[in-house]
Amino acid sequence: MFHASIAPLLQPFCHWQDGAWRATTGLSFPVTNPADGSLLATVADQGGPEAEAAIARAHAALPAWQAKSAKERAALLRRWFELILEHQDALALLMTLEQGKPLAEARGEVAYGASYVEWFAEETKRLYGDIIPAASGDRRLLTIKQGIGVVAAITPWNFPNAMITRKVAPALGAGCCIVVKPSDETPLSALALVTLARQAGIPDDVFQMVTGQNAAAIGDLFCGDPRVRKLTFTGSTPVGKRLMAQSANTVKKMGLELGGNAPFIIFDDADLDMALKGLMLAKFRNAGQTCICANRILVQAGIYETVVERLVAAVAGLNVAPGTEAGATIGPLINDKAVAKVETLVADALAKGATLLAGGERHSAGELFFQPTVLANIQREMAIFDHEIFGPVAAVMRFESEAEAIALANDTPFGLAAYFYSQNMSRIWRVAERLEYGMVGINEGGISSEVAPFGGVKESGVGREGSKYGLEEFTEIKYLCLGGLG
Ligand code: NAP
Repeated sequence: MFHASIAPLLQPFCHWQDGAWRATTGLSFPVTNPADGSLLATVADQGGPEAEAAIARAHAALPAWQAKSAKERAALLRRWFELILEHQDALALLMTLEQGKPLAEARGEVAYGASYVEWFAEETKRLYGDIIPAASGDRRLLTIKQGIGVVAAITPWNFPNAMITRKVAPALGAGCCIVVKPSDETPLSALALVTLARQAGIPDDVFQMVTGQNAAAIGDLFCGDPRVRKLTFTGSTPVGKRLMAQSANTVKKMGLELGGNAPFIIFDDADLDMALKGLMLAKFRNAGQTCICANRILVQAGIYETVVERLVAAVAGLNVAPGTEAGATIGPLINDKAVAKVETLVADALAKGATLLAGGERHSAGELFFQPTVLANIQREMAIFDHEIFGPVAAVMRFESEAEAIALANDTPFGLAAYFYSQNMSRIWRVAERLEYGMVGINEGGISSEVAPFGGVKESGVGREGSKYGLEEFTEIKYLCLGGLG
């Protein structure tokens, strides 16, 4: 269906023909709506040569972009932020159509994505250096922070807007040029961001997009090109490891936001209303397809039965429907592979003794919809304990003591987000300090914010995005030693 509001966002790259948006030139690949499988658009299928050309253009554009003052770059970012918000509804519709999340969530993501652009427009003006007291009187020592140079980014489909702005805004703010390869599942939201950046006055070669189905070819090129000084990636841990290894030859700075396996611990002394509210948010947002989704719900024995009962009741209130339908709270999963993975994890858990209390199968709303599911009696040996579910499945496990909960929570190579609920202040500090995670939600299920550092430890990644630290990731510190001062 033709949506007039999204036409201006896509027109630089596509034209409307025979019921879909068509790539203007060259080879293309299809983008479909996961809610019904319909064709939305075809998009340029680019690969290594186009990625190489984009890097060359970014490299050539670097001196002029770096020569701009922080205030000038900030003004361009600020204008981009305003344009994103002005087009919030159209961007949200586009996102729901290609990614599947309910419209209300898509609107939320657009605002969230824009918040990074606003934040880094402000932060870029505060990229301070240091003056260091020297060890001898004839010297003055100082540091400056400079943009690292050309940056390449590879981003996932689950947050098709925010995972791009969270990288592009700090890169541009720091004085870098950036080339982005979005997921081939969600290139339209990515291209729409480029359209608005152009309208804001950000030069074409400073922020470029390479869309393509051959991710490995584009990734190989990014990693191997010595002009790319930083590679920033959000996606799965196996791909992140591969990119890290491939980048070793050119010793790039790496930013890796990888997979998670979040524990969500509810202690006996928790406020259960608060815990259930946080759990529903942390588990079922985006149909469970976020890297910080609650993956293992650990509940202390004394409240276990009550929590499970309340969870089943809350899950019954979820509304599975296409994201464009009013009142939808659970949309489709992204593709058949994702649904098959969820089915496999559920089947493995049931075969090893888990109890099915709700859902458990595909949903009649469409091929890629899965029923909100509750599995109780999860055990350590089940695959669901070790793997990101990335679907609307709540896997609940019982524990007895605080020490056991911490040991279970940390028993994973991942370390992105963890959550726990307790009203005991001593326990809050103890547990917060012992969890091996980059982010910990304490009596809170929604932790993401542009002002806070987002990132993981262990195999969940390297570096932080957002916050004052997020800008520094795109800079190098240069030490200046002024000698001979007498
Ligand atoms: P993915 O399969 O790793 O894909 C991520 C991106 O990498 C996509 O653009 C993909 O392209 C590309 N890619 C795939 N294989 C590649 C290769 N060999 N070389 C270069 N690029 C390659 O992950 P996903 O399924 O899209 O996203 C889900 C994962 O992302 C989950 O593990 C989730 O936890 C993680 N994630 C982490 C964060 C965080 O902040 N830590 C945030 C969101 C998601 P194509 O899609 O075009 O194949």
